[in-house]
Amino acid sequence: MSMQSETVDVLTIGAGGGAYPAAFRLAKAGLSVVMTDPKGVMSGNCLYEGCVPSKTLRETGEVLESQRRFADLGLAGKVQVDYPRMVAHKDAIQGRRYAQHAQELRNYPNLQLISGNARFIDPHTVAVATGEGERRFHCRHIIVASGADVFVPPIPGAELCLTSHDLYKPDPTLKILPGRMVVIGGGYIGLETASFFAAFGTRVVLLQKGPQILSGMDPGMVATLLPLLNSNIEMILNADVERVEAMGSGRRVHYRQGGAEQQVEGDVVLMAVGRHPVIPAGTAELGIDIGKHGIVVGPSLQTRFPHIYAAGDVNGQVPLFHAAVRQSLVAAHNILGGDRALDYTDFRNVPTTIFTLPGAAYIGMTATQAAAQGVEVITGTYDFREDSRAQILEAMGGGIRLFFAPGSLRLLGGWIVGIDAGHLIGEIGLAVAKGLTAYDLAAFADQHPMSAEGIGKAARSIF
Ligand code: ADP
Repeated sequence: MSMQSETVDVLTIGAGGGAYPAAFRLAKAGLSVVMTDPKGVMSGNCLYEGCVPSKTLRETGEVLESQRRFADLGLAGKVQVDYPRMVAHKDAIQGRRYAQHAQELRNYPNLQLISGNARFIDPHTVAVATGEGERRFHCRHIIVASGADVFVPPIPGAELCLTSHDLYKPDPTLKILPGRMVVIGGGYIGLETASFFAAFGTRVVLLQKGPQILSGMDPGMVATLLPLLNSNIEMILNADVERVEAMGSGRRVHYRQGGAEQQVEGDVVLMAVGRHPVIPAGTAELGIDIGKHGIVVGPSLQTRFPHIYAAGDVNGQVPLFHAAVRQSLVAAHNILGGDRALDYTDFRNVPTTIFTLPGAAYIGMTATQAAAQGVEVITGTYDFREDSRAQILEAMGGGIRLFFAPGSLRLLGGWIVGIDAGHLIGEIGLAVAKGLTAYDLAAFADQHPMSAEGIGKAARSIF
């Protein structure tokens, strides 16, 4: 029996960062747009269980850490950690943002959000399984923005572990502050979470499979960051987790290190070994290329069908919310261009922040990557020991590194470890993306007494 299709200009599979910026842009241009998402709300995993809720807890941790630094400097008295109330604050922020998004949606009558899971029927037809049955859409253009999900490795007892979902979703599974936490995985999610809970007073043991925490990131940046983290975190490297078992209300994690069997116990275990793309059903059947990291696209974000785009985590290029937002707009522009590429994504120059306490952030080419490619760089340095704001905050660890191409002195990349890292990467990132040079940075009057002063000083350090 054939089903009646509704016709729309654009349908997005997902309503997260890869989808909704395009949906609003295209609705503004007068197109009819349908977003689909089983969550029934906008913002995807970022707001549901990612960036926003985790950073809400982080900022509470930041207050605690700075209050400790000021304990002997006029802010005497023990700070009480009330985890259930912190969680309530996190839930409230999520609620506030969902309400804001609902209001934004009401401004566009030609833009609808449908609660349901979408699958491809053919290159122009998408079926959406809603609570009231299936709806079919004939779509002139489709943006696949189905994101990514937590990867849980097939080790015995993996189901006994919590994931970032259990910590950060609205009304999370974890509601009580654990005394001891084991974190499996030393990537940015594992390390950030370890850092927040360490600030709250939890004793954290972090197990990392390989020899480097934050593997793949610049070793110089990582080596600067790690000694600055809260001493409540114990890091165990080269630990191969084999199984997890229940022990009363707690957990025991068995791992192998070198030849030896080892074990560690915690009240809870966080599994944070990575994320994997979520590919909508029917995608492969259309002949759309799917690689190890997700749907294969170039900088125009088009698949082998010029009218089908893949934006955000689902293409695995730069799985970060702000990267998804930019990609979403690129897809929108190319749809407005009649599925001809007139806007391209710069996958390389996207800022990345590790929101530990303190944080670290980087963009573009680092000294180590340059060395690996046989490219010489000139390094500008600035140490937060000499920074007025860092001194005021009693947080003098870390600094800024800027990597310039010899000759042109064009800024190729850089990193920050320490105060304000996630803010400072904005200015450095724009400079990298727009091809500014050490002369440009050195000639700009960065504001005093703010940490951005260090950017100009790092640039001037090479002259
Ligand atoms: P991104 O930032 O790349 O957009 P997110 O993971 O934040 O990624 O958001 C992707 C959203 O897509 C999630 O909210 C998820 O529920 C939704 N999603 C995943 N699979 C489907 C599907 N088949 N149909 C509709 N929505 C989907």
